[in-house]
Parts: sequence; structure tokens; C-alpha cells
Amino acid sequence: MNGGWGAGSHGRHLGRKAAWKLFREFISPATFQELFAAPPPLRLVVEQQLGSLADRAIKLKLKTDDGQSIECVVLLPTGKPGHPTRRATACVSSQIGCAVGCPFCATGMMGWKGNLNADQIWEQVYWAGLLAAQSGRRLRNVVFMGMGEPLHNRQHVLAAIERLLDGRRGFGLAPRHITLSTVGVPRGMIELAQRFPGVRQAVSLHAAIPEMRRRLVPKAVGDLETLRETIAQINRLQDQATVWLEMVLLEGINDDDHHVDALIAFCAGLRVSVNLIPYNTLPGHELWQPTPQPRREAIANRLRSAGIRTTIRTSFGRDLQAACGQLSGLHAASSPPSASARPAHTLPWLP
Ligand code: SF4
Repeated sequence: MNGGWGAGSHGRHLGRKAAWKLFREFISPATFQELFAAPPPLRLVVEQQLGSLADRAIKLKLKTDDGQSIECVVLLPTGKPGHPTRRATACVSSQIGCAVGCPFCATGMMGWKGNLNADQIWEQVYWAGLLAAQSGRRLRNVVFMGMGEPLHNRQHVLAAIERLLDGRRGFGLAPRHITLSTVGVPRGMIELAQRFPGVRQAVSLHAAIPEMRRRLVPKAVGDLETLRETIAQINRLQDQATVWLEMVLLEGINDDDHHVDALIAFCAGLRVSVNLIPYNTLPGHELWQPTPQPRREAIANRLRSAGIRTTIRTSFGRDLQAACGQLSGLHAASSPPSASARPAHTLPWLP
């Protein structure tokens, strides 16, 4: 990890308070330059910004100071009918590529290319928050669901979370507004719950039958029973929070009754909720298709009848390859932002 608390070589020169102000108040780089007559202490550069006309997700392609391309997604939901929201969510990456190798995931197809340091992780939140602020929104949630397995980069991810929570030097987020999604790394999950019990945890389960889980999440460590025991321990460490079980539903792969029965059995005795995720098809990988909506609804209803809280996730950013399982960083060439991909209305253009 280089620097710290947003105060690298520039930051030290300017003083830490100036650097903290930049991040805490989401000051734009241009305003910072005007205020302090010096460049802001930033380590990421926005290479490309793609805004979705369809569903208000914006993918930021960022270049690190060591020349790597990463992606983060800003979600700007409109809220429910009669309850509009001005909140925004940042979905951040923790690694470049991923070693877990889920066969349906664009990041998994890249393999593992490296870890991001804490500065590179939390600075994604700054860029997302700046975009949100310039859109009249307030960044409220951060989810570790971008590129990579966060708990394979535990040290830097935990350091980044500490800064996200810090009200003086960081963003002052409430722990319950941070969610870390993992394939289930027992040691990391327990350390996270011990250090930050309020931070929500989500487990990318995808199958509760051992052979199918090995196929869909090939490099997950430990068996399903170990994962169940770990979740039980997290339940004890966290007062009332639920652990989310994420299931990407793939037609004919993990969506028959046999799989639903296994999932119900997995949930027994645990404080968990299930999030069913419609799969986002990847170009060139048509083997994997999403479970049709009526079947998704039927699965949700069966789980609810078994007493398991269940939601079906709204997927943002499909037209941008920015939805769950679609981030790869592979298209981060220096192409100019496409006018058709950029929203025509209120969304600002970051420097
Ligand atoms: S789904 Fe998540 S854990 Fe699996 S390869 Fe993709 S980024 Fe890694």
C-alpha cells in the first residue's frame, strides 16, 4: 500500500487536511486545483465513462498510477413508484481479474492479474461519489461486487473499509451501507465480522449441491458444510444482520427443483436471505443463458414458502457490459466516450 489516507506525495506537500477535504466533500479535481494551486492527490484517472440510457448505471473505466485498467459502476436508481430516491451506490473492484474462475463471469475469464491497494480501492468511491454529487445525488452505499474476490485481497480491502467508515478522514459511511460479496473465504469472513460487525456480508453461493458449486465456483476454498459453519459464526458475531446468499440463475444448470431443495436445506438454521440474480449473457458465451422470468418467480415463491426471505435483483447496466459478472476491464482502451452511450440529460462528464 502506498501513501495513506489519501495523502500521497502531493497530499503530504499540501497537508493532510486538504486531501481529506477533497475526498470527504467530493471536491472536483479542477476546484481542488483552484483552491490549493496544486494538483489533487489522486492516483486514478478516468479513462472512459459510459452512462446507460436504459437503466441509470454508469461504468467508469479507470487507469491506476501503475498503468492498469479497472472498472467501477455507479448505480443511480430512481426508487420505487411514489418513493423516488436521490441516493447512489458505488460498486467497486478489489482486484484486476480474479483467480476464482467462475465460468460464466467476464472477470473470471481474465484470470488473476493483480491486487488493488487500499488507495486504489477507496478512490473508486471518490470518483463514484463525485459523479453522484454532480448528478444531485448522495453516495450512500458501497458494494464490493466489482472485479475480483475481495477476501483474496483482504489486507487492502479491510484498510479501504476502515477509511470508508472514518467520518473525519474518510467518507463517514454507516457500516450497514457497505456490503462485501465473497465466494466464501472463511478466515476472511470471520476477520471482517470481528473488525467491522456492522458491514454486511454476501456469499456468492450459486449452487448448494457440491458438484455444481465446484463447477460454477471452481476455486472456492472449503466445502459447503464449512461454508455453513462460517455463516453460522458470522450470524453469532453480527447482531441481527442477515447474510445474503447470491444465486446467479442459469437456465438448465442450477434452477431445477433439486437445486431449490438443496438451497432450502442449506439455509436451515441460518440467518440468511436469498438474492436471485438474473444472469447477464456475455457475447460469445451463449452456453450460459438466464433462467426465464416465470421460473425465477416460481423459485422465489418456493423459497418464500419455506420461510426464506428472498428478493430478485434488479440488474443495472446490461447495455454497457456493466452488470453483475460483466466487468472485465478488457475494453478499457482509450476510445472516446460514445455519444450514444452517454446519457443525453443531466449526468455530468467527469474530468
Ligand atoms: S463471479 Fe466474482 S468470484 Fe467469480 S470469477 Fe467473477 S469476480 Fe471472481
